[in-house]
Amino acid sequence: MGNYAVIGYPISHTLSPLIHNANFEAKGTDDNYTALSVHPNHLLHIRDLIATKELSGFNVTIPHKEAIISYLDAVDEDAQKIGAVNTVSVDGDILTGHNTDITGYMHAFLDAFGQAARRVLIIGAGGAAKAVHRAHANNGDDVTIAARRMESFEQFKADDFKPMLISDITGAEEFDAIINATPVGMKGEDLLKEMDIPETLVSGSAVGVDLIYKPQKTKFLEYFPDGHYMNGMPMLVHQAMDAYGIWTGEKGDYEAVNKKYEDYIGGKS
Ligand code: NAP
Repeated sequence: MGNYAVIGYPISHTLSPLIHNANFEAKGTDDNYTALSVHPNHLLHIRDLIATKELSGFNVTIPHKEAIISYLDAVDEDAQKIGAVNTVSVDGDILTGHNTDITGYMHAFLDAFGQAARRVLIIGAGGAAKAVHRAHANNGDDVTIAARRMESFEQFKADDFKPMLISDITGAEEFDAIINATPVGMKGEDLLKEMDIPETLVSGSAVGVDLIYKPQKTKFLEYFPDGHYMNGMPMLVHQAMDAYGIWTGEKGDYEAVNKKYEDYIGGKS
């Protein structure tokens, strides 16, 4: 039996236990996954926590994704490139950091839209934007990132993208994929109206991605025709399945987890 967890602060909102435990159930293992509240002042005791809870691996969420790195023995190349870890493997005393937001996002994107190289616009320049940028840059795509402040780009370790201000988007630019990596839309806001972005930006054949999964269809996604948009849920499930793969060497049951989540939001479980 393996014990797994997500650490964060606060942690009560997390869907990770639902997702991972659904996967364990589908795989027929007696592994378990819990949410652990770890105050930032206590992150330095992470090895004691691993020992006490007998963790075989764990996920890391806000606000620890960057700070955890100084407590690890190794960090994989992509996680290093964005300076953030969301998955840690525990091999005896050796702790290794990974970032499955990058791989999970790309799995989701490729499943939905296929492999073709694309001109990509990412709106927002926070933690999720860094993972999405890394994923598309690794895929050979041409990436532009739009932020509301140019200072946001000082936080990026990589420079293989074009930076711009959201306020400079004219709507005449041509992109094949447009990704909302901000929280704007969670409360029913219309991203384009909120940011004063002309609708012509989304009127061509571009696909739209919103990293938000609640609501399932934001106003931003309503600008795109059926089959041309994706919400944040496939990324969330794939990042968890990729973490499971890192911990166990096995493939997670994406379909079973997705079904569990749909039942959950439908109020059936
Ligand atoms: P974050 O690090 O706080 O970054 C948010 C970004 O959005 C920042 O660049 C921020 O700009 C920008 N922003 C916020 N409000 C804005 C506004 N009104 N106008 C313009 N820009 C605005 O957050 P994050 O972790 O990147 O998360 C972003 C979104 O992705 C959230 O909705 C989160 O739930 C979602 N997410 C989904 C998944 C998934 O698996 N589906 C994974 C991670 C994140 P400033 O820096 O200027 O404030």
